[in-house]
Amino acid sequence: MRQEILYSLFNPVSSLKGIGPRLTEFIEKLAGPNVVDLIWHLPTGLVTRHELEKLSADFVDRNVVLPFLVTQHAPSRNRRAPYKITGMVGDEPLTLIFFHGREDYLRRQLPEGEIRKVSGKLEDYNGMYQITHPDHMVALEDKDSIALTEPVYPLTAGVTNTTFLKAARQIIPALPDLHEWNDPSLVTREGWFGWKESLQKAHTPQSLTDFEGDTPERQRLAYDELLSNQLALELVRRSMKRKPGRSLMGDGKLRQQILSVLPYELTGAQNNALGEIEADLNGAHRMLRLLQGDVGSGKTAVALLAMAQAVEAGAQAVIMAPTEILARQHFAAIAPIAEAAGLNCALITGRLKGKKREAVMAELAAGKLQMVVGTHALFQEDVKFYDLGLAVIDEQHRFGVHQRLALSAKGRSENGGVDVLVMTATPIPRTLALTAYGDMDVSIIDEKPPGRKPVDTRAVSLDRLDDVAFGLKRKLQAGERIYWVCPLVEESDILDVAAAEERYRVLHQQYGDQVGLIHGRLKPEEKDEAMQLFMAGDINILVATTVIEVGVDVPEATVMIIEHAERFGLAQLHQLRGRVGRGGLPGTCLLIYAPPLGETQKARLAIMRETEDGFRIAEEDLRLRGAGELLGTKQSGLPEFKIADLQAHSRLLTIARDDARLILEKDPKLATDRGEALRTLLYLFERDAAIKYLNSG
Ligand code: ADP
Ligand code: MG
Repeated sequence: MRQEILYSLFNPVSSLKGIGPRLTEFIEKLAGPNVVDLIWHLPTGLVTRHELEKLSADFVDRNVVLPFLVTQHAPSRNRRAPYKITGMVGDEPLTLIFFHGREDYLRRQLPEGEIRKVSGKLEDYNGMYQITHPDHMVALEDKDSIALTEPVYPLTAGVTNTTFLKAARQIIPALPDLHEWNDPSLVTREGWFGWKESLQKAHTPQSLTDFEGDTPERQRLAYDELLSNQLALELVRRSMKRKPGRSLMGDGKLRQQILSVLPYELTGAQNNALGEIEADLNGAHRMLRLLQGDVGSGKTAVALLAMAQAVEAGAQAVIMAPTEILARQHFAAIAPIAEAAGLNCALITGRLKGKKREAVMAELAAGKLQMVVGTHALFQEDVKFYDLGLAVIDEQHRFGVHQRLALSAKGRSENGGVDVLVMTATPIPRTLALTAYGDMDVSIIDEKPPGRKPVDTRAVSLDRLDDVAFGLKRKLQAGERIYWVCPLVEESDILDVAAAEERYRVLHQQYGDQVGLIHGRLKPEEKDEAMQLFMAGDINILVATTVIEVGVDVPEATVMIIEHAERFGLAQLHQLRGRVGRGGLPGTCLLIYAPPLGETQKARLAIMRETEDGFRIAEEDLRLRGAGELLGTKQSGLPEFKIADLQAHSRLLTIARDDARLILEKDPKLATDRGEALRTLLYLFERDAAIKYLNSG
């Protein structure tokens, strides 16, 4: 399906000259498997070489090219000593140094008595000039093969700059001529070049100023990438909207009943969000809406009321959570209210098995269950609804776009597609929201329920850990509950657990059976039990790894202690802190850190002390970390950009969004000449999935 003109770009990197199996492996890791991945791998610097005829102290520590008369080889006597080659540049001595140098090779390259052009960084070693591992050694007549300026590519072990240069020299001049997909007036206004010319310029920087700020060629390439992202999302969005939806109108009775049972009034922000959702459900188009609200902003109640509306309209509704614990918590919150209103409600997780599972499945398929709470287990083949109308997906960042779509496919086709409401507690900066959720409408709960007191946040040095542990006594006497979160250890959950077990042991000595432990290696039942004990107040100190991070609601918890807080990301710290201060009592958060702190670590802890505004924290996080890491790209299904930088290119992103909408309004099938060129763009950035939406009509 991919256009023929692009075939050569989608050859494997091993198809390039000089790239064997070993190098292929390294390059795949660094850039990607195909030739096209190398074209986006842009240089980040430039070496400038100075061609000299004589040695000069002015050029120490700079890259030079020199005529070198080889006097003598001195092979190394043992493994640690380098191989040395002495010689003259004019009338001054210069030594070349090689670690692990191979004698036969070096004697061939640098025969005694002959002159070679050598290049490398000139060093002053105790008053003697030397060059360690020259990057070029060529005969005088080949001296032009040593470029005086050369781009420097980002590298990892195993790949040299020369490898990349050679690859780029094969690919870049041979790039296909593609039709311009951008609006010519935009290209002119921004002072950009065409696609091919931009790549050629980006791969052959001329001076260091080409790396100061943003060059037109880099901007152009970043824009292309952003446009492909926005076009793809807009295509998904349009195809969802185009599919017939259904109107889930309802008579409001069930909602009225639920509101009367809730022990509080909805906040203005909850009401606004609910209003937007109700309008979507009433309408005949398909809902695809993101509900953003900071931790504790009360998203669950909004979800429940939306589900109630779907049920009023005679459909089934489901809410899906990312973990067993959260699914159980939702079930515990929703089921009593739903059942009081005369509904049947079930919990479907991986632990529902055998006869019990069969019974639930039968009821679900027969339409006897109106509301379902569950985990990923809902995706399983045998989970069949009688008539699913609304799917709510909680804590979206653990699910990807595909899963969103998979769940919505569980509806009855003759009744139109399932309405989808996605809820996330991770405040997403505007720029990120556009690239990750551009296909969705957004509602925001930007207000917390009344009566919440600010959490007193402090940074405490690790050497005061004993004081902290001792100080818990007072809190316990006052009937408060405490989370103690243990550090991440180098991405190893085994070590995480060891650290948590050790902390548990120490606290247990001090506080006995009031202390519990929860971590990722426990069986699901054991995790639940620990959580239940903590919720019930049978244990009052819960030592945990980050399994408690998402969504768990224990109103009596007032103290959050985070050990080695400097190892956590801002978003994570914010989520953790959001676990406390949810009841009437004020919360405390102690960020225990091991000095000395790096600049970024210091900045993170300072922001945590300064604000509880999740959006502000997310923006700062984006600034400190860059977008890719922000939500943990791998698990989030968030797009990773090869060239665009969401921080630097937010202006371009806005243009790309508007452009994408306009393009598809005018040319929904991408059938015009420009449309054809835009398809090429989508393929180029491997958004093939989006093109399927075009073809499926
Ligand atoms: P989140 O948005 O993090 O999922 P929850 O829905 O778990 O938040 O709500 C957090 C807590 O706030 C719950 O204990 C819930 O009962 C309570 N809550 C929700 N809405 C309100 C409100 N309008 N007034 C008072 N408390 C509320
Ligand atoms: Mg929640």
